[in-house]
Amino acid sequence: MSLLRQPILLLARSEKVKKLVSTMPVSSGIVTSYVPGETTESAVDATAGLVDDGLRATLDFLGEDTLDAEQAEATVAAYLDLLQQLGARGLTRNAEVSVKLSAIGQALPENGNKIALENARTICRAARNAGTTVTLDMEDHTTTDSTLAILRELRKDFPETGAVLQAYLHRTEADCRALAYEGSRVRLCKGAYKEPESVAFQERLDVDKSYVRCLKVLLAGQGYPMIATHDPRMVEIASSLASRYGRAQGSYEFQMLYGIRPDEQKRLAESGETMRVYIPYGLEWYGYLMRRLAERPQNLSFFLKSLISK
Ligand code: FAD
Repeated sequence: MSLLRQPILLLARSEKVKKLVSTMPVSSGIVTSYVPGETTESAVDATAGLVDDGLRATLDFLGEDTLDAEQAEATVAAYLDLLQQLGARGLTRNAEVSVKLSAIGQALPENGNKIALENARTICRAARNAGTTVTLDMEDHTTTDSTLAILRELRKDFPETGAVLQAYLHRTEADCRALAYEGSRVRLCKGAYKEPESVAFQERLDVDKSYVRCLKVLLAGQGYPMIATHDPRMVEIASSLASRYGRAQGSYEFQMLYGIRPDEQKRLAESGETMRVYIPYGLEWYGYLMRRLAERPQNLSFFLKSLISK
């Protein structure tokens, strides 16, 4: 892994740096390359543009690690507004939402899991009424068990709810086996947090090998795999495994983040693949941006320039 990845992910947790950087307007170059805007309208407009190009979307109202119940409720309200606006623009056939449980109560000191479950239920119900689905994002490894437990509860009433698994965790191949059942939507990504050696592979090659093992389990299984990566090698391997396991196009999908490899996103869609773009939006773009910079330290100089010229 890049030498800069760990220090940038540590900085991502620094309140001082967060305060300084968060005063940057979202319009500063490096931020808009990853986040279309701060408002629901900007996210819905970005979705409409992608859908016109034959792509699909999953939208994330930015925010995480909320320690305030009112803030968690405000996040739920933001999702309800988003779903309403997606519905009003006729976009829910092609756009769903992604939710971080820590933004809707999971991290609260008292009854966090219960509050997050109830809040997630409210969003799932609104999504179903609007004709679409929810995928639960996966955060750092201390939340994996709780997130999967909440997913199991949600799926009793909303079996269409999707999950995310991170190939860098040692446990993930087993989690893929457990979730590769019919009707189960699983997004496989490499993983974006700073994790200790005791739970996660540290070397890029080991993460990639794990990603391929997990792909095999998901593509050979009965569920609906969502292959979330920008890595050209992983995309190629996923395509050949899909044909090896007799998967027709549309029985799985590719996913990439907004602003990353947009030409490849279009190419995959034009070749008949289902391609979904993850669109983050809102004021709380700091943690998200830092994780993207950790993955691509080449962009650090653009970031520092926007900081100096603000
Ligand atoms: P990397 O190993 O980072 O990159 C491999 C190659 O991809 C690079 O060598 C380069 O060729 C290309 N590439 C990567 N980034 C860029 C770029 N910015 N510009 C151009 N080329 C690039 N993580 C979580 O922990 N939890 C989640 O819930 C979660 N949800 C996600 C949802 C989606 C739809 C996606 C796409 C990712 C999500 N992630 C999530 C992030 C993920 O875990 C990785 O951190 C991120 O996708 C980078 O990994 P990668 O597979 O793209 O490969």
